[in-house]
Amino acid sequence: MTYQHILVAVDLTEECHPVVIRAQALANSCQARLSLVHIVEPMAMAFGGDVPMDLSMLQQQQFEQARERLNTFAGRYPELTADQRHLAYGQPRQEIHRLATEQGCDLIVVGSHGRHGLALLLGSTANDVLHGAPCDVLAVRLKKPE
Ligand code: AMP
Repeated sequence: MTYQHILVAVDLTEECHPVVIRAQALANSCQARLSLVHIVEPMAMAFGGDVPMDLSMLQQQQFEQARERLNTFAGRYPELTADQRHLAYGQPRQEIHRLATEQGCDLIVVGSHGRHGLALLLGSTANDVLHGAPCDVLAVRLKKPE
């Protein structure tokens, strides 16, 4: 069995490039399509949900900046065309699952810090994405910064 459409989730940090390179190698070996997704998290989430002011303008700017950052990030992979770069707004787990289903992806690739102890209890995006995923999930171990 081989994969046909691989979705790689990126937080747009430098450390995420090895995750894309791994997903790309896998996609090449399976002759699968590769798509990239970044999720912009609502500002209110960072403040714990309830913010007594209108954040819509700021959120619009946040989304536009994220689009530029995604294009810069994806610029290293010229073979990924605009329709293979996705930007969504919301909670990463929910949006990654939604996009994977919508795009008919059969593998989601995420980076994993391999946390343990207290950090694991606090949770990670990789753990979160695994739960209830509509397809296989590959967690690529991220190297700790030197
Ligand atoms: P974290 O557990 O938050 O350190 O993130 C680990 C991995 O989850 C990253 O390497 C990405 O693959 C993915 N990820 C985290 N945040 C996002 C995001 N906002 N959008 C898409 N993927 C993300």
